[in-house]
Amino acid sequence: MKFTDLGLDERLLEGIDAMGYEIATPVQQQVIIPILEGKDIIASAQTGTGKTAAFLLPLMHQLLTHPHEAHDINAMIIVPTRELAVQIAETMEGLSYFTSVSSIAVYGGGDGTTFSTEKKALTHGVDIVICTPGRMIAHLNMGYVKLKGLRYLVLDEADRMLDMGFNDDIMKIISFLPKQRQNLLFSATMPAEIRALADVLLRDP
Ligand code: AMP
Repeated sequence: MKFTDLGLDERLLEGIDAMGYEIATPVQQQVIIPILEGKDIIASAQTGTGKTAAFLLPLMHQLLTHPHEAHDINAMIIVPTRELAVQIAETMEGLSYFTSVSSIAVYGGGDGTTFSTEKKALTHGVDIVICTPGRMIAHLNMGYVKLKGLRYLVLDEADRMLDMGFNDDIMKIISFLPKQRQNLLFSATMPAEIRALADVLLRDP
């Protein structure tokens, strides 16, 4: 299946072209249209399958084609590690090159300058936030994160997050989010813990 058959915005097709993608991978073929239709998703997909673009492209399409609050965070992607956050931010940069969609990666380990850069973006609004759980909670606890307009939540490598003991952190972050939102859960494996999380989190996935 070609990307042009998926109904994606022209500006995204330019980004896809610049990244050198021609054919949508199986996970992209399976999830992009349901995400565009507003459905909650649970997908079993490992790194290397093209899962990142599978959720970034439809999210960006929705932000480009639907009116939304420019000064709010519109989508949050929670990931287990800073390496994955950086990797997703890089893919995002490539795919969004011809668009006005903004994003920031928020993860632990940087110095005070990094924290204040993150604080500024989270206070003034940025379309897509890609974050690790602990660092996001540090910001959320300070009360300035603009979440009222948040409409999309992605949990990426959810099984790894549970293995790393992030279950309570994820539930805490979710407690800050508006209830009306679309939820996407990606996991390499589907153990009972992931199914339990999906039961709590997803509506008719
Ligand atoms: P991911 O599974 O998201 O980590 O992606 C693995 C690699 O595949 C990344 O380098 C992507 O840029 C690349 N990729 C994603 N989708 C496609 C596609 N449709 N065609 C070619 N490469 C792709």
